[in-house]
Amino acid sequence: MNLNYELTEPLVIISYDDAPLTDYTIAFPLHVQFGIPAEINVISDYIGVSGYLTKEQILNIYGAGWNIVAHSKGHKLLIDSFINTTVNIGDKKIYISEPDFFKHCPCKIYEGNKSEEIITGSSGKDSIGTFVQLETGIKGYYSANARIGLTDESIKEQIISCKNFFLKIGISVDHFTYPWNAYDARSQQIVAEHYISARAGSTTAINERGSINRHCLNSVDFIDLIMEGKLEKVLNETVRKRALCILFAHTWDPRFTANKLLTLFNELQKRGIRIGTRNDAMVFFEKS
Ligand SMILES: [Zn+2]
Repeated sequence: MNLNYELTEPLVIISYDDAPLTDYTIAFPLHVQFGIPAEINVISDYIGVSGYLTKEQILNIYGAGWNIVAHSKGHKLLIDSFINTTVNIGDKKIYISEPDFFKHCPCKIYEGNKSEEIITGSSGKDSIGTFVQLETGIKGYYSANARIGLTDESIKEQIISCKNFFLKIGISVDHFTYPWNAYDARSQQIVAEHYISARAGSTTAINERGSINRHCLNSVDFIDLIMEGKLEKVLNETVRKRALCILFAHTWDPRFTANKLLTLFNELQKRGIRIGTRNDAMVFFEKS
């Protein structure tokens, strides 16, 4: 890792989401071969689950100088969502467009002054639509304008317990990436109390000096950029603005290939752009 770079240099962070096994089998060996660090965004509940990185693999990656970034405990949505149909007293299903965002978690449903805690189970689909199953019947009536979201307690657990898990296995975790890149005022505040920075999605990968909000950093999928022919433009802008550019990818994405990663390396090296970790980007945060 190069830590002695000039404060005026541009920096690119390569950020891998969700810590699938393919981070270790496809991306990591190429990074090691070219001496290029990156960061992985790890969901602590998924460690060792089939198809995801094991604790040992994560420790190897950490040992190679990468940043291990908290990506929450269970990849729940950290913002609230509208429900799709009215809910009546005694109902045990809540219809929402993306039920997996809220399954198996203490949540709340609310509308105006009315609100109640609900414990969600699995997700499902019937003739009406997609839903989350509830353990006990709803106590109140809610119109389709009601919202569902994690309780304050469970949103804190999603954000904080992930960091504590890593501390226990000897990995220091100072940065966060929002699941689905989604955040609101409540989740951002909790994240800001426990992490130095947080990555969110955006229409741009560029974070300009002097105007960085380090708890909602811009980032884009670099596989999209390559396929849309926009990578060179973004990297040129990074150099011109001496900016912090965050490029993410999902290595389980069938469009993610070793060749595309080598294309990215090549374009970065052609421009002499430094590639670092979130820790290396601290100089950008300190000035913002
Ligand atoms: Zn994710």
